[in-house]
Amino acid sequence: MKERNRKKPARALILRVAINAPLSRLFDYLPPADADPALLRPGCRLLVPFGRRRDVALLVETSDHSELPVAKLRQALNVIDETPILSEHDLWLIRFTSDYYHHPVGEVVAAALPAALRAGKPLYPVQRLLCLTEAGKSEDTDALRKRAAKQAELLTELQRRDRVPFEELDSLMPGWRRLQKNMKDKGWLVETECSDTAGTKPEPQQPQKGPTLNTDQSAALKAIRKSAGFGVTLLHGVTGSGKTEVYLQLISDVLAAGRQALVLVPEIGLTPQLVTRFTKRLGFEPAVMHSSLTDNERLATWRAAADGSAALIIGTRSAVFVPLKNPGLIVIDEEHDASLKQQEGLRYSARDLAVARAKRFDVPIVLGSATPSLESLQRCREDAYQRLLLPTRAGNAVPPLMRLVDLSTTPSDDGLSQSVLHSITSTLVKGGQVLVFLNRRGFAPTLICTACSHIAECDRCDARLTVHAVSNRLLCHHCGAERLLDAACAECGGSCRPLGQGTERLEDSLRAHFPEQTITRIDSDSTRLKGTMVRALAMATAGEAQILVGTQMLSKGHHFPNLELVVVVNADQGLFSTDFRGSERLAQSLMQVSGRAGREKKQGRVIIQTAFPQHPFWSELFNGGYERVAGSELAAREAAAWPPFSRLAMVRANATKRADCWEFLDNLRQFADSQAGSELRVLGPVSAPMERRAGRYRAQLLLQCRQRQPLHALLGQLRPKMEGSPLARRVRWSIDVDPIELF
Ligand code: ADP
Ligand code: ZN
Repeated sequence: MKERNRKKPARALILRVAINAPLSRLFDYLPPADADPALLRPGCRLLVPFGRRRDVALLVETSDHSELPVAKLRQALNVIDETPILSEHDLWLIRFTSDYYHHPVGEVVAAALPAALRAGKPLYPVQRLLCLTEAGKSEDTDALRKRAAKQAELLTELQRRDRVPFEELDSLMPGWRRLQKNMKDKGWLVETECSDTAGTKPEPQQPQKGPTLNTDQSAALKAIRKSAGFGVTLLHGVTGSGKTEVYLQLISDVLAAGRQALVLVPEIGLTPQLVTRFTKRLGFEPAVMHSSLTDNERLATWRAAADGSAALIIGTRSAVFVPLKNPGLIVIDEEHDASLKQQEGLRYSARDLAVARAKRFDVPIVLGSATPSLESLQRCREDAYQRLLLPTRAGNAVPPLMRLVDLSTTPSDDGLSQSVLHSITSTLVKGGQVLVFLNRRGFAPTLICTACSHIAECDRCDARLTVHAVSNRLLCHHCGAERLLDAACAECGGSCRPLGQGTERLEDSLRAHFPEQTITRIDSDSTRLKGTMVRALAMATAGEAQILVGTQMLSKGHHFPNLELVVVVNADQGLFSTDFRGSERLAQSLMQVSGRAGREKKQGRVIIQTAFPQHPFWSELFNGGYERVAGSELAAREAAAWPPFSRLAMVRANATKRADCWEFLDNLRQFADSQAGSELRVLGPVSAPMERRAGRYRAQLLLQCRQRQPLHALLGQLRPKMEGSPLARRVRWSIDVDPIELF
């Protein structure tokens, strides 16, 4: 070996790294001058020169050749990590995500890493400590106090504790840093460093025993336990059927085997109640990962998942990327929920990536839902997933009774029909709680002039402004623009009036009808202040508020023991949606909100108001439930070749000039036509349903194909065209693979 090496010139070691830049490729570098080649392993971070700046890069692979002349390659500056922070599995996930979503690998790395690591901070942050020396130990603080009171105070603290972290001293005695130089010179103090690991962990508690599983739960558990390696299970259980109990058992199995479990939940579902439930039942606090963590907390969770010290990680969408040392199970709760799909930047589906990861890890994955996505239901029909049913509520709760109220014939007062007001009254009289659901925040969606019918619109969007009475403002829910509520019509000076209902207005009219009751409104306006959401939910759960008014924030996942009546104020927006997923979404949201009613002893009731009671959707929902709606939706999708019977990708573009946007997409269309076979359909370009938003014109091109492969092959060719287009300087564009919204 050695002989041969000596004869041949040593080949260059090329580092292929991912950099957070919107370019779909790896970048080649030479190793830093003094680097030990053995330390240059994929998964380590490097500091590299990039253009005129320095960037943190991730080493993805090494090679012995480069497409560029070696002499032209720049040298990495230094190696940040001594050991890789990402395993082979994690690197695989990054490349898979980048390939599947046709997204720059460096931006995928950025999405997968916590901010602290992205910024080049060490995986184990170093903690600086101030320590006492032998000389410092014997120093007389009383004598010192007379000369230098502050120094004496610091010395006393150190004599008590020997070593104190810098941060603690900062809060304990601000200004201590000025004293230390002098005290170090006297030889009383020295400074040391140590790795700051996760902090102190609370002692594990005795886990609480859960309820004895019912027959359906036991059968489901048994069926899932059967498969040791990869397998996808759709746990289709009505709300309150005890899906979480099944997850808990599976998680216990995995923990007992010394492996880790990852549970993903929708943003709205990761409540303190959920974490408490898991903590009580498992006897330790799970590591959580969600958007409101600080950078340090996020890093600590990430690290604990990576080194295996966190046995259970519960997180929202982005937690799908956490590294797992020894995974044994993945659970996705509410697998149909739209929040599992990221809708900007890297547009990934956490559910779909989780399935890919489970396969790679060869571990089981459970998708739970009361209203599964049609994609997952179809996978079950094809026998790719196993479907397990929990058809009834656990314990003694019975399903709620549902009925429709025809708004076209019953008079309504501020959006609430007489019949609804009547039912609310009778529920309250018996001491029951009421939830009034309207998925529209603000006071009213429209401000109209009573004289000339002019409607207040956003200057920057093709959209109406929403009236917010509490803040006395007009707000655009699309771009965030706001202004004071118009006193008079901008066109004719006539007087204006709010038209239609929002949650604020609903709250007002409920107060007028039920002045004696406590009413709580829960939507993103009322819960903006930190802690208000938790307080409002606690009040609602304790039954202190008799009437709850809110948007979908209130309709998902919560358990209000005393809730008897759910009122859906207006279901009609969903009936005539232009999106092919409209009926699926409407059925899901109605089942979710209905699931809040009668979760304990008393039977719940659900009243849905509609002006179109003859619409076929209603007879399907009422006669066959979600199952029936899903069945006929699947048939319709198959006939029209919509997903899950075809694959979609959406190319969106926007620009301040309409012409730029169209030219960009027209060019792509021409290219696609020249490449695509007959199996691929190119639809558009067309204007986005809301063409102008935040001052930019928007248009889109939809690609559709029954098979995945030709579509992805075309995307692979389109992406470099888009990156290289001279128009790309004026046009913002994106690729959305498996889009869930067609705008
Ligand atoms: P899901 O996750 O399907 O909404 P949960 O697991 O949260 O359902 O269960 C709903 C309620 O029923 C919870 O209060 C839970 O403690 C209770 N429960 C679940 N399984 C059982 C069971 N086998 N016996 C009695 N109560 C149960
Ligand atoms: Zn706007």
